[in-house]
Amino acid sequence: MLHDDVRAELIKQFPAEVVEMTDDSGNGYYVCPTCRRTVTVKAPKCQGCNQVLGWNNIRREEEEKGVKMASLEFEVPSDFTKGDCRRCPLSYIGKAQYECPLNMRNNCRLTLS
Ligand SMILES: [Zn+2]
Repeated sequence: MLHDDVRAELIKQFPAEVVEMTDDSGNGYYVCPTCRRTVTVKAPKCQGCNQVLGWNNIRREEEEKGVKMASLEFEVPSDFTKGDCRRCPLSYIGKAQYECPLNMRNNCRLTLS
C-alpha cells in the first residue's frame, strides 16, 4: 500500500503535459493531466496533486458536455407531417390526448425519414 503511494508520487515527478480545454464561451484553460484540476498558465506543478507539469506539447481536448442526446424511432403514417400531433403516437401517451406531451406542437423536433 505504502509502496504504491511512493511509486505514484515518484511518477508525478516526471513532467506530464498539461491538457488544454475550451469552455462553453470558447475560452481556453489548462488542466492537470493526472487529477484534471485547473492549473494556472506555466505553473511548474499542480497545486492539487503535485504532478510536475510540462508545457511543451500541450494536448487539446474537447470539453465533455454535461448532456448527451437520446433518440427514439417509431412509426408514423406515411402522410404524417410535423406538428400533426393528433396523429402522432407521442400524443397517445400524454394526459390530454391529441396534444403533444412535450409541448412542441409548433416546434416539433421529430425527424422524419
Ligand atoms: Zn493534479
